[in-house]
Amino acid sequence: MTAWSIVLHGGASAVTSERQAAVLRGCNLAIEEGARLFARKGDPVEAAVAVVRALERDTVFNAGRGAVRGANGQRETDAAVMDGTTLDIGAVAAVPECTAPVALAHALLRRETIMVAGPSATALASSASCPPAAGTSQGASGACDTVGCVAWRGGRVAVATATGGLQGKPPGRVGDAPLPGCGFYADSRYGGVVISGDGERIARVLLAARVMELLRCACGPMAAAEGGLECLAAVGGEAGVVVLDSVGKLGCAYNSAHFPVAFANSQGSRWISLTPKHAR
Ligand code: ASP
Repeated sequence: MTAWSIVLHGGASAVTSERQAAVLRGCNLAIEEGARLFARKGDPVEAAVAVVRALERDTVFNAGRGAVRGANGQRETDAAVMDGTTLDIGAVAAVPECTAPVALAHALLRRETIMVAGPSATALASSASCPPAAGTSQGASGACDTVGCVAWRGGRVAVATATGGLQGKPPGRVGDAPLPGCGFYADSRYGGVVISGDGERIARVLLAARVMELLRCACGPMAAAEGGLECLAAVGGEAGVVVLDSVGKLGCAYNSAHFPVAFANSQGSRWISLTPKHAR
């Protein structure tokens, strides 16, 4: 059997005690979805997208159906998908009232254009014959946070992210989540990373690029996650980082109160935690 690993996160933020069970349940359903897909089919892009789609369907997370509202009362979502083997990227930003932005990002993945912003993203995806699950979002405000996934199988890595951004954000504001080198990156030679937290701070230090550079220097996935997070000290702010390296080994670091993370691999390891210290 080809070896595989999947890690997902449900956002770097404090999770109130009333929400904890729902967040853990959502992470569990999503990791199951990824593991099921890998049992049938080997594609890491499909697995990362399926996991993020599952999280987008759950209104406990600030993504897809659960996206928070901006200052104008509208929901604008961002998402990205990257294939670490081809370095193809599909990303969408500030897409209004869309419940499945990661599906739009996925539809752009094999095109020359890497990012489309605003209402045009919805139109472009339909023309790529991938109709988005568009429509009014149903999420509760104060949802958990951004979601992301790194999927690795037999040396191929892919990542996907999705977010509603920050509650009360200015219209058109875009954070780190859809920006390559900031909220995500994947290169199958070294691994893949997805990030959650204060988007403006994460982008200022190119956090995902820092983590990838540490992976390239063969620091190991845990040291890469921790070393990347240390770079954030230059600008302050909160973040959570999950990494799989080129052999599917996990790294995880965060400085928020909670960072819901779920992990599964082909060796039968499976866990979910709101405070994943035991990943060390
Ligand atoms: N990083 C996201 C953003 O700034 C928010 C988050 O991860 O909570 O849009």
